[in-house]
Amino acid sequence: MMNSTVKTVSILGATGSVGQSTLDVISRNPNSFKVIALTAYSRVEELALAAKQFRASLAVIGDESKFGKLQELLAGTDIEVASGEKAIIEAASRPSDIVMAAIVGAAGLRPTMAAVRRGATIALANKECLVCAGELLMAEVEEHGATLLPVDSEHNAIYQVFDFNAAESVSRLVLTASGGPFLGRRRSELSAVTPSQAVAHPNWDMGAKISVDSATMMNKGLEVIEAYHLFPVEKRQIEVVVHPQSVIHSLVEYHDGSVLAQLGSPDMRIPIAYSLAWPGRIEVPVKRLSLAEIGTLSFIEPDYDAFRCLALARDAMMLGGAAPIILNAANEIAVDAFLKERLGFLEISALVEESLARCDMKAPQSLTNVFEIDAEARRVAQALSASFA
Ligand code: NAD
Ligand code: MG
Repeated sequence: MMNSTVKTVSILGATGSVGQSTLDVISRNPNSFKVIALTAYSRVEELALAAKQFRASLAVIGDESKFGKLQELLAGTDIEVASGEKAIIEAASRPSDIVMAAIVGAAGLRPTMAAVRRGATIALANKECLVCAGELLMAEVEEHGATLLPVDSEHNAIYQVFDFNAAESVSRLVLTASGGPFLGRRRSELSAVTPSQAVAHPNWDMGAKISVDSATMMNKGLEVIEAYHLFPVEKRQIEVVVHPQSVIHSLVEYHDGSVLAQLGSPDMRIPIAYSLAWPGRIEVPVKRLSLAEIGTLSFIEPDYDAFRCLALARDAMMLGGAAPIILNAANEIAVDAFLKERLGFLEISALVEESLARCDMKAPQSLTNVFEIDAEARRVAQALSASFA
């Protein structure tokens, strides 16, 4: 018999870094959670394995050419199988207490929106959703009574110390940034860096796309936009400070001069566990924070010249409308080209900047508009990428 405190969970992007950490947290708290749907794009073996291990009721593979393989791997079980984007959206629409939104990129927007529209509690890792459709998404959260819990470590930190009953007394949000693997280098020292150097993050073990975003600091730029949508503050109240140890995950300053922060080891299982257990807490076997062992915490201003993506993202936020969508789409194309060694590291920001200059800036009125702007920006960025190479 299942007890009534068991929460049901679906994971979108179950084979990714956040998805796997989510399963790890669940595996250590088997009496608290039951897995409903698991989705992945192409890693069919990992998906099938997780579906069996966690006795999921549904496994969905995005890549339709892998459907036969998924059927084969799950033959003889009672796990339902499906494939394609519609099936991922359907998985998000199925009843579950919590949806972990951990797909990477704008590809996660439709499934996340489906979860929002049924009023679910969404643990949101997929920051690109908010970057592309923050206003629309937050309006639907309101309309459908959904609950959005930020999983991104900075936003999770802010969420834990933000007094929503006294939002007007918040004077500043300070997002901390590790600075990534190239912290301290000048712009001229970045032209020849390789994908393997870029994905080797000093503190966090993450998927390839967000690792490159951390290396360019686009990640922090996307997070500034994410913070703007998640918390009731003005754009100018959001700041970034580089903090190489990644111990303080972000800070909230109040009018009276008090600054509240959340600290912890750099382990995504902490914010993931927080979102799964909210409003309670569960035990997670992460490394305990020993400040004496760490010794020194340091802080520096970001270098907006070397890490131009951070400046571009802030500008896009200030412009609003289509700009963040174009920024994100061009960045997704650029990062993909960089990982395939078809574009240099510094060309990532160049491609994003040029795409912003060339695309139509008309603000989206609907989700359909968001996807139109996204598709157009991808076309422009693809063409530019070919010309850069
Ligand atoms: P990842 O690349 O490791 O995993 C991505 C997941 O999304 C995989 O399960 C993949 O199958 C699925 N996916 C990819 N493309 C898809 C598509 N077109 N349709 C459906 N599914 C698709 O990524 P990650 O590092 O786990 O990051 C996931 C999200 O969480 C990103 O938005 C990232 O910015 C955010 N995030 C990650 C971390 C981290 O520590 N990894 C921290 C904070 C925020
Ligand atoms: Mg983060």
